[in-house]
Amino acid sequence: MPLSHRYLSKLDVLDRCLPGIEIIEYLETVMTKENSKDSVSSASEKSYKGLSTLCVHAGEARQKPGNAITDAIFCTSTYTFADTQEAIDFVAEKRPREEYSRYGNPSEKVAESKLAALEGGQSALLFSSGMAAVAALLQAKLAAGDEIILVDECYHRTRQFCREHLGKFGVVTKLVPAGDYDILESAITPQTKILFTESPTNPHLSVLDLDRLVEIAHKHDVETVVDATLATPYNVRPLEYGVDYVMHSATKYLSGHNDVLSGVIISSTDKLEPVRKLRGVTGAVCAPNNIYLLQRGLKTFELRMQRHNENGMAVAEFLSRHPRVEKVLYPGLPSHPYHDVAKKTMCGFGGLVTFYIKDVDWRKTADVVDAVSIPRIGPSLGGVESIIEQPIVMSYHDFTIEQRRAVGIADNMIRLSCGIENPQDLVDDLDHALKETQ
Ligand SMILES: *Cc1c(COP(=O)(O)O)cnc(C)c1O
Repeated sequence: MPLSHRYLSKLDVLDRCLPGIEIIEYLETVMTKENSKDSVSSASEKSYKGLSTLCVHAGEARQKPGNAITDAIFCTSTYTFADTQEAIDFVAEKRPREEYSRYGNPSEKVAESKLAALEGGQSALLFSSGMAAVAALLQAKLAAGDEIILVDECYHRTRQFCREHLGKFGVVTKLVPAGDYDILESAITPQTKILFTESPTNPHLSVLDLDRLVEIAHKHDVETVVDATLATPYNVRPLEYGVDYVMHSATKYLSGHNDVLSGVIISSTDKLEPVRKLRGVTGAVCAPNNIYLLQRGLKTFELRMQRHNENGMAVAEFLSRHPRVEKVLYPGLPSHPYHDVAKKTMCGFGGLVTFYIKDVDWRKTADVVDAVSIPRIGPSLGGVESIIEQPIVMSYHDFTIEQRRAVGIADNMIRLSCGIENPQDLVDDLDHALKETQ
């Protein structure tokens, strides 16, 4: 029996966790008997088998420049031709190669192939940031008179980009509440071109039912975009549900080390073609050194995600039992409003935990933030270092009380991005902070 078949026959959740066919072939070429046995016996019941092999090897040539084991970085703005004939052949598309770095870089292609493999997609496009990816995708796909429907818990800069910037060019943005599929469907008109959501959302961690989202979109011939930054391809792979485009702020879990900005969109090559062309015009490309950091981060992606998931769960369970905590939002807890959808669709629940301190104002809540000693205070998430923030102080500081209420940002709310530290150390640190500030 071929290796991949033995390997796949062990899967409990075949339909959700099957890698794409190219990936199966790929696995067959890169995996030895021994390491296949190891990963089958050690993997959790629900997981994308073989992911770490892809993290390490996918997209990379076996033999590289200088015979190095790692990929080279090409710090170049342009590429040269040996003679005029080579240039003529290139423009006549006889010879695929690089020309100018706004259109492509060899490292970019390696990272894109790796990211496409991790999502089970055909192609990926890399950008200088997550927001550059959002902007390029929506600008390439929408025109004056079109409508886009956004789930209202989407990243505030995505909402701002759609309303303020796309609005100037005649694109209409409609916001619908997360998890209400009737309102979502009734918002669709013949002008609607795109349904855009995150899953899980931030900081409420609402999990979308991607089967329902795609069913509604297909019925009305609308394309779907999922910003899966918080989910990551370790926990959910939206393309397997029929979602058209998956995007990530690769700044977060994919790079994973709080040291670089980057963004990516994964889809079919055809659907991405206009976006690729626009990127070549506007130039929000990821710099070679940043691609190197992303590539390096991706090598340990599966290992990091296992610990992020473990830490998120440990911290959420601890906080949910703590007398000073009013409530905890974490999709892995049975108390979470979207726990059933999360259980059905996710392989793990991520490192982000949102919680509310009982009976205190914003200042006493800030005292808890100030009393922890492991998580650093700051925006962002998904890196090896834990980061804590109070949304009213950080991401929503410029909102009025009414605006904050409308988007469900409470004064006593804290968002913790669990890094990869020891789970007991994180729990002990929070325990100490909650006691000390009582
Ligand atoms: C951070 C983030 C973005 C923006 O990404 P940048 O890399 O900071 O531009 C978009 N969506 C989500 C869900 C994010 O967390």
